[in-house]
Formats: sequence, structure tokens, C-alpha cells
Amino acid sequence: MPYAYDDQNIFAKILRGEIPNTTVLETEHTLAFEDIAPEAPVHTLVIPKGPYVTYDHFASEASDAEIVDFTRAIAEVCRIKGVVPGDDQGGYRMIANSGENGVQDVPHLHVHILGGRNMGPMIP
Ligand code: 5GP
Repeated sequence: MPYAYDDQNIFAKILRGEIPNTTVLETEHTLAFEDIAPEAPVHTLVIPKGPYVTYDHFASEASDAEIVDFTRAIAEVCRIKGVVPGDDQGGYRMIANSGENGVQDVPHLHVHILGGRNMGPMIP
């Protein structure tokens, strides 16, 4: 079962309201909130509300409505955080660590939006 979902993971608890978060955007199928340990001036996490472990899981099993909502929410977060290329702090890095080799700590799909500074080489 490659996609067994652990509903006790920290983002599942955030989605259930058991752990507080600083929300940046909430839509029907998506929640975006500030990373608790930011690695850049902008470090926002975007997660689908559904129980998906990785991007490949999400893209395989989520509905079209969830995928569209999530994809557009990521772009909206970039606008809210002022990191769309061409803005004063323009540009961002978008990362979804997946699985063991991707060094994914929290087993609920999340996209990191990092920006507000030059992010340097992809693998430092
Ligand atoms: P991963 O390593 O799985 O790609 O990233 C997990 C991210 O979740 C890390 O950047 C970490 O700082 C963040 N994180 C872990 N626990 C919490 C939490 O309780 N609240 C928030 N807002 N972020 C968390």
C-alpha cells in the first residue's frame, strides 16, 4: 500500500484544528499556512485538505476540482506573499519533498513556497 495515509500526522492535526496555524489562504480544498521554522523570509506551506501523502498520490487519486483548486491556490499564495516574479521581492522556489529519498518529514502532501531572498543553488 504505497499510499497508506497516517491520519495522526501533524498536518492532519492542523486540518482538524487540533494544532494552531497561521493561515495564509483557505479554499474549498486547500489550506496554506506559515512554516513553523521558516528557512527564508517567505516560507509558506500549501496542502490539499484531502488525505494525500505525496504529489504522485494526489495527482493519481484527487478529483479534478481538488487539483485545480490546489494548483490555483499555490499561485494565489505567491501573489499574497508578494513573490510573483516581477514584484519587489520577485521570484520563489516551489518544493514538494516526497518519500524517503525526497526527505519528506510530514507524510501529507505539502508544497513549500520559499522566497523573499535569493534562494541560491537548488542543492546547497
Ligand atoms: P518536509 O521536510 O516534510 O518537506 O517539510 C515539513 C515542514 O513542516 C518543515 O518545513 C517544518 O518546519 C514544517 N512543520 C513541522 N511541524 C509543523 C507545525 O506543527 N506547524 C507548521 N506550521 N509547520 C510545521
